[in-house]
Amino acid sequence: MYLSGSSCLHVAEHFGITGNAVSYHLKKFGVPIRSAAEDSAARWLDPEFRANQIAKRTGKPSGALGKNWKIGRRVYKPSLRGSGNPNWKGGTTSLGFTVRSLPEYAVWRMSIFKRDQYTCVLCGAKNRKGQKYVFDADHIRPLAKLFEDHGITTVDEAICCAALWDTNNGRCLCRACHKKTETWGPNTKPRKPRVTSSEPVESTRRKAPRRSRKTAA
Ligand SMILES: [Zn+2]
Repeated sequence: MYLSGSSCLHVAEHFGITGNAVSYHLKKFGVPIRSAAEDSAARWLDPEFRANQIAKRTGKPSGALGKNWKIGRRVYKPSLRGSGNPNWKGGTTSLGFTVRSLPEYAVWRMSIFKRDQYTCVLCGAKNRKGQKYVFDADHIRPLAKLFEDHGITTVDEAICCAALWDTNNGRCLCRACHKKTETWGPNTKPRKPRVTSSEPVESTRRKAPRRSRKTAA
């Protein structure tokens, strides 16, 4: 029955057993199993099945709808990654950002935390019960300066540069101490003069413009 073109499931229905049982026995007696594609092809040879399928699909949208086909060959849409994307700004991810997301960087950072035992080397802050600190691995010689020193312009060069991964250039600082360092990122940028709270606020102004966090940091 199977050999004449019926599928495992059809045979199974006929005998009131499962399709798996049929395929198991077929394998056991060494009958070659047809693949799903072969099965489907065999079914389409049956004129009744063919007429049925065509009747079923008449008036329905084509299966190729929404697909971008050209005769004889599939047309692939251009990649939307990288420069293919209309929002591509020309690769603006900075080298510092890329280096900081390297696995090597995570290792460097962890080794500094472990060496300094998660203690701030300046104020001695340490996580205790009720006292929680955020610790940073501070570059004594800033990363950007190291790039300049060694003329690093690519990620590969950064990985190969041993000075970048020298743990002697790192120290564990609590966030508060880190912010006080001259090399804390925002401290290196020129800062707008800040209005101190002791000065009287102009009452004529209806609403003081709120300083956004980005410009303040
Ligand atoms: Zn500290």
